[in-house]
Amino acid sequence: MRIELVPSSLPFSELQFLVSFIVNDVIAIDGGSIGFLSDLRRQQKLKHVFITHEHLDHIASLPIFLENVYEPGMDCVEVLAAASILDFLHTDIFNGRVWPDFFKLAQPNNPFMKACILEPLRPVQLAGLTITPVPVSHGTETLGLIVDDGAAVVAFPSDTGPTELFWRHLATFDNLKAVFLEVSFPAACSDLAAATGHLCTTTFASEIKKLTTEVRWIVVHRKARYADQIASELRALSHPGVEFVCPGMVYDF
Ligand SMILES: [Zn+2]
Ligand SMILES: [Zn+2]
Repeated sequence: MRIELVPSSLPFSELQFLVSFIVNDVIAIDGGSIGFLSDLRRQQKLKHVFITHEHLDHIASLPIFLENVYEPGMDCVEVLAAASILDFLHTDIFNGRVWPDFFKLAQPNNPFMKACILEPLRPVQLAGLTITPVPVSHGTETLGLIVDDGAAVVAFPSDTGPTELFWRHLATFDNLKAVFLEVSFPAACSDLAAATGHLCTTTFASEIKKLTTEVRWIVVHRKARYADQIASELRALSHPGVEFVCPGMVYDF
């Protein structure tokens, strides 16, 4: 399984402003930055876009992406999300004001975009992968995703504060290789992290203890202004499995 966090800062840096992962070239997890990839062929290869929740850093480039790649026919792009998120996208983004109503324009007999409802704990099978949505604790309805290609399992809890069901469900998978886990705030902002449904370095340290398997903990979603502080606090933990994501690097599992 090949995974890349799409870079979102220009000129290129380690700072992460937006969230989009690409899995095996054809699946995207979140639409934060896929629409800004300068190689349009890479955008055109993406056929299935999972949206974990509606926060702007996760959907910022989705309208641009769909504009770039829409192609009438049964092979068109599919957007997969919880029903409430699809409803939000239709009502508040693709509403004919912010952006054209792609939901209505796509006719069943000639679609150029499909919407697919994700149900918690009901796996979907796409492009040789089994992807299981599992709710996390982010204040707004958010589905983390567990991606399994039969040989390796990689987890994307998306944005979350301290949570339980996701870790319990993840523990039932064999072959878990890595978790791309968020740390948004340093320890000094623990109140803000709790109020906004995110992890700080302190809660990150307790979350990773909820899983007894040895895995790579790949830190994502550091708020740009705190990125250095978060890095030094996490290094002080000296947890052997913890590393920082490299945007634009392809991870092979
Ligand atoms: Zn969020
Ligand atoms: Zn976010």
